[in-house]
Amino acid sequence: MPSDRRLSLDELKALVRTVPDFPATGIMFRDITTLIAHGPGLGATIDHLADLVPAGTSAIAGIEARGFIFGTALATKLGLGFIPVRKAGKLPVETIGQDYALEYGEARIEIDPSLLQDGERVLLVDDLIATGGTAIAAAQLLRRAGAVCETALFVIDLPELGGAKILGDAGVESRSLIAFSGH
Ligand code: AMP
Repeated sequence: MPSDRRLSLDELKALVRTVPDFPATGIMFRDITTLIAHGPGLGATIDHLADLVPAGTSAIAGIEARGFIFGTALATKLGLGFIPVRKAGKLPVETIGQDYALEYGEARIEIDPSLLQDGERVLLVDDLIATGGTAIAAAQLLRRAGAVCETALFVIDLPELGGAKILGDAGVESRSLIAFSGH
């Protein structure tokens, strides 16, 4: 096998580790640390994500923490800036924030709206979409800051949790590399 061959989506899926009952009973945690620790796996993930980036994208927004890994790598590949969507209380300036429900628990995310230009087309990136609550909250924040957010990229979709459909109903098209059945 030539070392410069891009890994297929099936090969990337095989690099994701599944940890049952983490962080709560009944959750099948899809752990991307095994994927990103694998050099060709990480590189191919970013290359496959880059194929899904819409024309006219002017910045990448990534959701803390795993969205930072894929989002900054993608931004670097495309020569674009990166906007961090952070957990509450981390940014040292005035922020706008949004509370939302998770598959397991509650959370709040914040952004610095001064990082965004009015009308700029921002692509949202995270590792995984489950219920869609996190991504919707992030898209709402980006829109409140004046950005246009019409597309979100994920490495993993859990289609049975319906997040992609909920995101679509909110005007954000979701594109993912791989899917896992169940929760
Ligand atoms: P949601 O808001 O329900 O779409 O959840 C998405 C966020 O929670 C992402 O940032 C994921 O990293 C994390 N997450 C939710 N469910 C899982 C899961 N089964 N395995 C790994 N991460 C998950």
